[in-house]
Amino acid sequence: MNLTLKHGRMAGCGLLLLLIFTPLAHSAEAIYKAGIAKKVITPSGPLWMAGYGSRNKPCVDKQHDLWIKALALEDSTGHRFVILTSDLCGIPRNLSEPVCRDVMKATGLKRADILMNCSHTHCGPVVAGNLTDMYPMNAEQLEDVRKYTETLTAGMTEILIAALKDLKPANVSIGEGTTRFAVNRREVTPAGVINGKNPTGPVDHSVPVLKVTDMDGKVTALLFGYACHNTTMSYYKWSGDYAGFAQIELEKAYPGSTAMFWIGCGGDANPLPRSMIELCEKYGKELALAVKDVANGKMAPLIKPITSSYSEVTLPLDKLPAREYWEAEVSSKSIANAKRAERMLAKLRAGVPIPTEYPHYPIQIWKFGDQLTWVALGGEVVIDYNLRLKKELPANGMKWIAGYSNDVIAYIPSARVLKEGGYEADSSQVYYGLPTKWAPAIEDIIVNKTLELAK
Ligand SMILES: [Zn+2]
Repeated sequence: MNLTLKHGRMAGCGLLLLLIFTPLAHSAEAIYKAGIAKKVITPSGPLWMAGYGSRNKPCVDKQHDLWIKALALEDSTGHRFVILTSDLCGIPRNLSEPVCRDVMKATGLKRADILMNCSHTHCGPVVAGNLTDMYPMNAEQLEDVRKYTETLTAGMTEILIAALKDLKPANVSIGEGTTRFAVNRREVTPAGVINGKNPTGPVDHSVPVLKVTDMDGKVTALLFGYACHNTTMSYYKWSGDYAGFAQIELEKAYPGSTAMFWIGCGGDANPLPRSMIELCEKYGKELALAVKDVANGKMAPLIKPITSSYSEVTLPLDKLPAREYWEAEVSSKSIANAKRAERMLAKLRAGVPIPTEYPHYPIQIWKFGDQLTWVALGGEVVIDYNLRLKKELPANGMKWIAGYSNDVIAYIPSARVLKEGGYEADSSQVYYGLPTKWAPAIEDIIVNKTLELAK
């Protein structure tokens, strides 16, 4: 098409030109705005590492830096919302609540508009209030954790606000890829379910991807998820594990971009085999490759505005053990069991009832019209929730299910997993300091509330 028209002929062709070029010009306009901020959170001195009960000393070495990263978005109606991702094992409520409160105060956002996810790396620092009974730390080491958590709280607040201040026109698109290193780890043996390998057990190998490009078409952010424990390594080096390597790989492939990982319902999946740095790097590269395949292919432009919702439900615990149980348990050889029993007995002595429920289980939904329903659940959610919600949520659009969001209170087993028993159902509750396992009713409570919010 010849676009060089003399001024004298413009009047006659004006309407035609307008009709031809209006749709093109409109598609180049950004429907969304995006803003990004990030910060290194690698501990500067020795600190205990989170996630494995077998740890027996603080960490001083690093594989690579740990990060907190925030991506803020604003839809066509001016509705702003922001997600934080982090190379942390857990985000407890005592961390997320002060952060959200301060961000809401500074920006006017609602709680539903702030989503906080952690990667569940087991090579990150202990955060105060998470997995309380797991680590035999002395008073000085506990104080180091308290101070670190204080700095972390301020850092999270700072980058969430900074990302919202950074909003500028951007194109946002979504897609899904696949990678297959996640394996169900609940192995059935004559002695019960162990933390092993169950190659035919349920998993979700999908890799949800959200891409942000600037008005020149340059990739500025890649936000991606995967439903698998971030536990390839158990060494004494700070590391984002496979998710850390995936982010590094993507930031190399798209210079100037920020890669952000959120973990899905990988409570009962492990990267297998594991425990070798070569495998950790390999899984990171495989995940990055899945993201690149999506990002370099045809993605759906995100055009629909967001509706966000957030609710906290009460999750009931099973029948509590009697006082005699705690009196015996207090001399357990397991530090975690003994510490938990001490706290329970202290409550009983003070006349304070042992909790029978958890009243603050967070469920959050970001819904982008009929394009995407994004659910974010608290705790270490097992895959059954992902599979059930993907089946029962309204059929329209993509469905992304995050776990480990807003409050990592404990494992969140399904009714099936609770019945079968094993670590995710039962023994993990000790490390989270809860007095007993969950009641089987929690699955329907969580799923029904999620479906109600997603309407
Ligand atoms: Zn875990």
